[in-house]
Amino acid sequence: MPATRVRLLVMNAALGPLDYRVPEGMAVEHGSVVVAPLGPRQVTGIVWEDERLPTNPVPEEKLRPLLGVLDVPPILAPLRRLIEWTADYYVAPLAAVARMVIASGGALRGPATMTEYRLTGGTPERMTPQRAAAIEALDGEQATIRELAGIAGVSEGVLRGLVNQGVLEPVEVDVDRPYPRAAADHHLPGLSDDQREVADRLVELVEAREFAPVLLDGVTGSGKTETYFEAIGAAIAQDRQVLVMLPEIALTEAFLSRFEERFGAAPVVWHSSLKSAERRRAWRAIASGEAQVVVGARSALFLPYANLGLIVVDEAHEISFKQDDGVRYNARDVAVMRARFEKFPVILASATPALESLHMADTGIYEKLVLPSRFGGAQLPEIHLVDLTEEKPGSGQWIAPPLRRALFDRLEKGEQSLLFLNRRGYAPLTLCRHCGFRFQCPNCSAWLVEHRLSKRLACHHCGHETAPPEKCPECGEPDCLVACGPGVERIADEVAEMLPEARVAVVTSDTLNSPEKAAEFVAMAEARAIDVIVGTQLVTKGFHFPELTLVGVIDADLGLEGGDLRAAERTYQQVAQVAGRAGRGAKPGEVLIQTRHPEAAVIAALEAGDRDAFYEAETEARRYAQAPPFGRWAAIIISSEDEKEAREAAQRLGDTRPILDDVQVLGPAPAPMALLRGRYRYRLLLNARRSAELQQVIRVWLAGIDHPPGIRIGVDIDPYSFV
Ligand SMILES: [Zn+2]
Ligand SMILES: [Zn+2]
Repeated sequence: MPATRVRLLVMNAALGPLDYRVPEGMAVEHGSVVVAPLGPRQVTGIVWEDERLPTNPVPEEKLRPLLGVLDVPPILAPLRRLIEWTADYYVAPLAAVARMVIASGGALRGPATMTEYRLTGGTPERMTPQRAAAIEALDGEQATIRELAGIAGVSEGVLRGLVNQGVLEPVEVDVDRPYPRAAADHHLPGLSDDQREVADRLVELVEAREFAPVLLDGVTGSGKTETYFEAIGAAIAQDRQVLVMLPEIALTEAFLSRFEERFGAAPVVWHSSLKSAERRRAWRAIASGEAQVVVGARSALFLPYANLGLIVVDEAHEISFKQDDGVRYNARDVAVMRARFEKFPVILASATPALESLHMADTGIYEKLVLPSRFGGAQLPEIHLVDLTEEKPGSGQWIAPPLRRALFDRLEKGEQSLLFLNRRGYAPLTLCRHCGFRFQCPNCSAWLVEHRLSKRLACHHCGHETAPPEKCPECGEPDCLVACGPGVERIADEVAEMLPEARVAVVTSDTLNSPEKAAEFVAMAEARAIDVIVGTQLVTKGFHFPELTLVGVIDADLGLEGGDLRAAERTYQQVAQVAGRAGRGAKPGEVLIQTRHPEAAVIAALEAGDRDAFYEAETEARRYAQAPPFGRWAAIIISSEDEKEAREAAQRLGDTRPILDDVQVLGPAPAPMALLRGRYRYRLLLNARRSAELQQVIRVWLAGIDHPPGIRIGVDIDPYSFV
């Protein structure tokens, strides 16, 4: 008997589950996406299992009828379980997670058609030169009137005339054009023996159709991509879908061309800046199963794939897989859960795996597959330290003599160099020489960063911008503002002064802010139209330039100063990744690391190329601190536009803290970013044993207190950002 009443998870985090009546003749099942009345308005919901969404049932006579079922495939049970798991684990509202599944409003409107036109073969009653030209130009074409007018180079009016004459006929087509098909065996690659062995194992896992988490651990330049492409080929051959997650949209363009070369068609792309028509088309193709391979940012993880058979998380150590607002999830970890619910392998690929991932491999929970050497016989680069306390750069300079000499040498030989500094803009701080005034963001506890290329002072946290003033706003003295410290733009200036004939490119999220710009940069670097690349963390990964033989790290100590939990690990990963850009072709590479602390464990490990030693030391430090993977952290951020209100709310939470053996609560204290986007912030940190019911403790604690409406409480489980 069909259900007569259903329970909905509605797409509104402020509402609990709601019950409705199913009108006669309407067919719904668990997972159906439906429209229901809510007061005078409508709300979208997903039909859920009653017993999994407990609420007080509405009496039969008060139930309102559903308004309709949307023409999209039902959200399948394993994805419903993933939504529940994610909401539970990250202490987030179910509706907020479900919204990441229903990520395209346009897609919910169902299939849609549009009208295109094509020639019938007939001739008009009265032939004009324009009509004749149009008929000739449009042979074999089918498109909208506007597009055809562009092709034929005539006005739309001329073509409408031809429609009236029956020379052009309308054809109804689906607005969501099908995607080109990828072929598993389009262009088979030549793999090394190491690659072949790993690829064979990955193919075996894809064919087994079982949950299998894999850490693909390969040095930079070892050909991890070609290797997991074989696993993708196996999934395509089985007609199952694949998701490849990349950490940066700037990297997709290079990935797409490699993919197309291997499989004969581009994959479907998903990221937050897609236009709504592209979003709709991709979402529907993913939900119907037509999209074979999807390449996307972390938001692609929650889409309703019809038939997923493999997830690859490339550069899996990257922190951009962690979302820091809304649902604060880590896409790398949720990808493993999705693979478990839907029973397929998940590959975490990296040259510098997260300590947590390595720990899972070492304890046998993940299978570890290793690519120990570079592809094609290329050697790992030689790494040398430049001790800045002895080799001092000149006044107002940041490039020390050994790195200067190496840059001269490469330019002379016609080889490329890369300088790495993880700081956008020209200078991180601007101050008045006369009165000491510092330019600070009015909305955040942060300095304004000077961007000389775009002539502005900008906050990197809230986007606040202002033009650099002619005189000090505090003391009114003209021409007294000085830039303190370097950003990449300033390093580029220093290079230009030192090597006037060198062609220098600055690569940051400011300059490479679209896939097209990224593609342009890659093409120029490959064509050797760039001699020196100066970049932020954006250049540390993915790029492969065979002529690049020198990497200089301007300030290896920079990442160690923040004092966050993963500072040493992140420094290790960034420097090792950027070092991995050197010497990927036939010529050997060299890496110079500038530091004031050559004795620091992480710097010494980098110099020795001793990854194991670094991970061992870091593992011990984490074990001692009860930090992940041995203990767990959570952060609770209390914020308000009113400082006093935020402080008092934090105090109330602090006063009611749970007293437990296995969960320790630190704080409240002003967050390191005590003011962010106009909100005052206080923070409580929780350190828990692995056995603790951390999420349940937090839920019960937070549920016990009411706050004024201006207060926002954010929970961050396994936080990455400690601001
Ligand atoms: Zn001043
Ligand atoms: Zn700001």
